[in-house]
Amino acid sequence: MTHHPIKTLPDGTRVYSNGTRYKPKAPEERVRRVRKPAVEGAVLWQGTWLLPLDLLPLEARQWPETRPDTDAYEHASKPRRCKCDVCKRPSAKRWKLQWKREQRALL
Ligand SMILES: [Zn+2]
Repeated sequence: MTHHPIKTLPDGTRVYSNGTRYKPKAPEERVRRVRKPAVEGAVLWQGTWLLPLDLLPLEARQWPETRPDTDAYEHASKPRRCKCDVCKRPSAKRWKLQWKREQRALL
């Protein structure tokens, strides 16, 4: 991800691409505590460490099947009154009426 790879020597010394060397202090030598949580993907925002949420990946998520209101237009031609959930919607009335109007125009 980074354009400047950081090499880590066996003794823990980091060598940056510009030649700078830095060896992190041992935990007992440190003056300040480590504030970064040991969680992958933690982000520092305005002085607060934010942890990633436990979410399902997008491809594992399931959505209910969506059916358009215009399905009621096609169901209007059924010999019996359709009782599917699309036809029970209040917005289905408009499409049923349109189908009836077009049938009248054909006659
Ligand atoms: Zn229907």
